[in-house]
Amino acid sequence: MDALQCKLEDGGVLIATMDLPGHAMNVLNDELALPLAELATRLESDAEVKALILRSAKPDFLAGADVDRLHALTTAQEAFEESMRFKAFIRRLERCGKPVVAVLNGRCLGGGLEIAMGCHWRIVVNDGKARLGLPEVKLGLLPGGGGTQRLPRLVGMQQALQWMMEGTELRAEPALAAGLVHELAADAEEALFKARAWIAQQGSKKPQQPWDAPKFRYPGGDSRSPAVAQLMSVAPSMASSKSWGNYPALTHILSSVFEGGLTDIDRALAIESRYFAACVTTPASRNLISTLWYQLNALKKGASRPAGYEPGRIRKLGVIGAGMMGAGIAHEAAAKGISVVLLDQSMEAAERGKQHSRWLLDKDVKNGRRTSEQREAQLALITPCNDYRYLDGCELVIEAVFEDRAVKAVVTKTAEAVLTPDAVFASNTSTLPITGLAEASLRPEQFIGLHFFSPVERMPLVEIICGQLTSEATLARAFDFVQQIGKTPIVVNDARGFYTSRVFATYVMEGIALLAEGVHPRAIEVAGQQAGMPMPPLALQDEVSLSLALHVLDQARSDLEAAGQAWREHPAEGALRRMAELGRIGKKAGMGFYDWSDEGRQLWPGLAELFPLAAEQPPQAELIDRMMLVQANEAARCLEEGVLRSVADANIGSILGWGFAPFQGGALQFINAMGLPAFVTRCRELSARHGERFDPAPLLVRMAERGERFEEGGPSRP
Ligand code: NAD
Repeated sequence: MDALQCKLEDGGVLIATMDLPGHAMNVLNDELALPLAELATRLESDAEVKALILRSAKPDFLAGADVDRLHALTTAQEAFEESMRFKAFIRRLERCGKPVVAVLNGRCLGGGLEIAMGCHWRIVVNDGKARLGLPEVKLGLLPGGGGTQRLPRLVGMQQALQWMMEGTELRAEPALAAGLVHELAADAEEALFKARAWIAQQGSKKPQQPWDAPKFRYPGGDSRSPAVAQLMSVAPSMASSKSWGNYPALTHILSSVFEGGLTDIDRALAIESRYFAACVTTPASRNLISTLWYQLNALKKGASRPAGYEPGRIRKLGVIGAGMMGAGIAHEAAAKGISVVLLDQSMEAAERGKQHSRWLLDKDVKNGRRTSEQREAQLALITPCNDYRYLDGCELVIEAVFEDRAVKAVVTKTAEAVLTPDAVFASNTSTLPITGLAEASLRPEQFIGLHFFSPVERMPLVEIICGQLTSEATLARAFDFVQQIGKTPIVVNDARGFYTSRVFATYVMEGIALLAEGVHPRAIEVAGQQAGMPMPPLALQDEVSLSLALHVLDQARSDLEAAGQAWREHPAEGALRRMAELGRIGKKAGMGFYDWSDEGRQLWPGLAELFPLAAEQPPQAELIDRMMLVQANEAARCLEEGVLRSVADANIGSILGWGFAPFQGGALQFINAMGLPAFVTRCRELSARHGERFDPAPLLVRMAERGERFEEGGPSRP
C-alpha cells in the first residue's frame, strides 16, 4: 500500500489520501514526504489534474515531523538543508496555479499544519477531535516547515507568536475564528463535498496565497509597523525572563518571525531554516527529544509494564476518602467513563467530593469544552456513599484517607471484607512505605501504591509503587488503569519517600540549608528559577507547608530509630523548626518564608534577623549547582538502590512529577549532559565543603571510571 494514494476524479480533481502503512498516524518521514513532493510535480505538469484535495485516511491528518530524522541531524548545515528541502514542495503546491484544498481531521500539528497552511483552502472536520498547532517548541525546536512565516501572515504576529511560543493546540472553532482555517464540516464526507464545491467556484481563476499578492499586508502589521516594533522591543526580554534563557527556541522563534516580517516569503523561509538549524543542535532540544519524546513514548508503550498479562480495563472503581485527592481521582476516572463509588466517613463528606467534580465540570461547560449533557452523564458515574457494601464489584479500590497508618489499616480491612478475591487494593499514600501498609491486608500480593499528585486533574504522572509482596499481575492491572485514565505511569520499588517525594525534597531542603548558612533568600529563589525549576525552593516549601515537611521528617526519624539506625540531621531541619515555632508554617497560615496575601507573596523581612546574612555570598552558579546536583545525585542513588527500575522512569518522573528543569531532560539526563566525570568531581568538591549528601553515588563513580553514560532515548528504543 502506498503512503499517498491518488485518485483522479472526473472533472480533474485529484484526491490525495495520506495513509502511512504500518503507522497509527501519519508522520512526515521519507515514505510520505517523497510522494508529497511528487504530488507537487504532478500538479505542476499534468494538464489533466485541475485541482487537488489533500486528506488523510487515518484518525489524524498529520501528527508532525519524523522525530527520528530530526534526532539524527548533527550539524547546523545538515539541519538547514533538511528544512529547506522539506518545505520546497509546500511552496510549489501554493504556487502551482491550481486550487489546493486540505481536509483536516484529528491532529494537524507541526509539519501537518505547515503543509495545510500551504494549501489555498482549509476545511476542518469538526467532530471534537480536531487539534491544530505548531507545538515544536515543546521539543526545543521551532517550526521549520514554513510555520514561523505562514502563521503570522495568516493570523498576525502577536497571535502567531503566542501560539508558537506556548505550543498551543487549537480546536476547530477558535482556528476558524482566528482565520487559520476557512470552513468547518460536520464529517469527512461533508468536508469533501465542501472542498469540491470550493474548487468548482474557482472556475478558471488561479488561486494565490495572500502573501503572494503584490499588496499583501500582515494582519496587525509587519515588523516595520509601530505596534509590532513595540511588541518586539520587549518580547525577547520577556521571553528570556520567563524562561531564564534556558529555552533558546523561544528567542529563535521571535527572531525568525521578526526578520521574516521584513522581507518576502521566499527569503523569509530561508531565514526560518537558519533558526531551525540553530535550534536542532542545542543541548536543550536534544535533551527534550531524548526524554520527552523517546523515553516518554517508551513508557507510554508499556516499557515498565510486566509482560505476559492480558491488558485489563477497570469498569468499576472504588475510592475511599473523598478529600482533595480522592475527589480528584474519582473525577479523572469518571471522565474516562469508569463507574466510581466515592466513599467517605459521612454522606456529607462523600457528597462534597462529588461536588468537586461538578465544580470542575461547570468550568468545562462554561468554556465550551463539554456540553451540559456530558457533564450530567459524567457526574452520574460517581456514586457518593458512606457504606462499604457499595464497593462490591469494584475491580480496583484506591484509598486516599488521612495519612495515618492506623486509619489506613482499618480502611484496608473493612474494604477487603466486601471485595471480590481478585480485586486490587491501592494506597495513595505520599510517604508511608507500601510494604508496611500491606501488612493490614489479607492479600498483600494484591496491594500496591498509586501515588497521584496534586491537583490530580492537572498532574500527568502517577508513581506506581510495588511493595515487597506486590505481584506482577497486580502491577500490570494498576499500570493499565493509570493509562486508562490518561496518565503516565512510572514504576518504582518501595522505599521511604518512594522516588519523587524523596528527590524533590532534596531540592527544597538544599534551598533552606542555603538560607540557614546566611545566603540571601532572594539569591536562593532566583537561583532555583534560573536552574529551570518551576518554583523557587522557599516558595515551594511554603506551598507544601513546613509543618508537613516536619511531620515527614519526624516520622522518618522515629521509624529509623525504631529500626536501630541513627538519624542524621539535615542542615535545613533546624531552620524549619525555628520557622514552625514562630507559627510560620507556610501559605496555608498566610506566613512562612513569605508573607502571603491575596495580592501575592513577599519574602518575609524577618528572615534577615532569623538567618543573618553571611559576610561572603557564594556566586549564583554555586547555588544552582547545589540545588541541581543534589537532586540528580539522589536520583542516581535511587537507581542504584533499586528504588528506580529504569532511566526512563527516573527522567520522566522527575519532569512530570516535580518539574525538574525539562530542558535538562530529567534528573539522570542532567548527569549525562554534564558528563559523568565532571559530575563526580563537582559532587566531591561540594561534599568536601557542604557534607556527605553530596558524596557522589557509588554507581556514578563506577560509571565515570568506565566511561559509561545513562541510556538515552532514541529511535532504537521500543
Ligand atoms: P484530605 O484530608 O483532603 O482527605 C482525606 C479524606 O479522607 C477526608 O475527606 C476524610 O473524611 C476521609 N477519611 C478519613 N478517614 C476515613 C475513613 N476511615 N473512611 C473513609 N474516609 C475517611 O487529604 P488528601 O490531601 O486528599 O490526602 C489523602 C491521601 O493522599 C493521604 O494519604 C495523603 O498523604 C495522600 N496524598 C496527598 C497529596 C496532597 O498533595 N494532598 C498528594 C499525594 C498523596
